[in-house]
Amino acid sequence: MMAGYWARLGWMSAACFTVVEMGARAVAAVWAGAAVRRAERMEARRGAALLLCLRLGPAVLGVAAALGMCAPSYLLFERGGGEAVGGLCVVLGLIGAATVGVGAWRALRAWWRARRWMAGLLPAGGAEVWVVEEPGALVAMVGVVKPTLVVSRAMREALTDEEWAAAEAHERAHAKAWDNAKRLALAATPGAKTLTRAWARLAERAADDEAAGGNADRRLALAAALVKAARIGMAAAAPAVSALAAEREELAARVARLLDGPGEAKGARRTAAVLAAGAMAAALAMTQPAVLEAAHGVFERLLR
Ligand SMILES: [Zn+2]
Repeated sequence: MMAGYWARLGWMSAACFTVVEMGARAVAAVWAGAAVRRAERMEARRGAALLLCLRLGPAVLGVAAALGMCAPSYLLFERGGGEAVGGLCVVLGLIGAATVGVGAWRALRAWWRARRWMAGLLPAGGAEVWVVEEPGALVAMVGVVKPTLVVSRAMREALTDEEWAAAEAHERAHAKAWDNAKRLALAATPGAKTLTRAWARLAERAADDEAAGGNADRRLALAAALVKAARIGMAAAAPAVSALAAEREELAARVARLLDGPGEAKGARRTAAVLAAGAMAAALAMTQPAVLEAAHGVFERLLR
């Protein structure tokens, strides 16, 4: 297929995204089981961060390679106008464009569903905590940029003040951790379901820890709130919403964990340090002209 200078840049960048994203996703899938086991032993917040890195890493690497390496090397070293684009490059480019397009569509759809769900619940906005007429046990942080705390009347009336304070602190922890933004990013990117689910599990535990910490009374109050949520019956929430109790199967484990107190957690420092060093080395390499020139040669040969 013949293509002009800028069209070739587009095909090459999209194909480069596909190769890097799919390759990294395959590596992440192989490592997923071991990573989940390792993350489960860590402090919840750090474990969740590790799983999120692994789950979103492939898409981030793909974008970084396309925009940080493929495009600049092309702009620097490619001269001349139209040339042929190989069939493989076209196929990979189409896959890349489809991945990005589907991701954007999924993120938009998740955001829109959360909005519509919220609009269905609420008569009017404005208050810091919205009490809604919903029969289930709903306590949720809704919204990405300026999240709002929503609670169903049934749940609010069932909770004592201490339990409500603990539930509210759990939701504020989700907001502080930008968990709804992370949920949107997860909806927008392809990746292993095991990683997504394990992240969600650890994000709940991390919010529990942040809300109750080492305070035994608070842990008890939060556990009591979770038990009440289970008894009232869980309300269905929309995507990109962080609820107090989203998965029924996880409730018993969380209650047990809250009652047991904070366990021994293994540090994630080494893993974090290795990931950070790798990212820094890659970023540094990308700024070297010699590396870009070599990369250009590789892209040319692979994708022609
Ligand atoms: Zn939660």
